[in-house]
Amino acid sequence: MNLKRGRNRWREKTHCPQGHAYDAENTRFYRGRRYCRTCQNTKHLKKKEHSNA
Ligand SMILES: [Zn+2]
Repeated sequence: MNLKRGRNRWREKTHCPQGHAYDAENTRFYRGRRYCRTCQNTKHLKKKEHSNA
């Protein structure tokens, strides 16, 4: 495995496509990928705007 070569392909992104920071609290790891929690929460909120538990 050439990890050194693969490293260049993966740019270190610091923000999600929506501009939220990928910090420790806002980042969720799943299957080796990073996901923005803020964006995920926003999606949920839009769907479940009315249901309050
Ligand atoms: Zn985001």
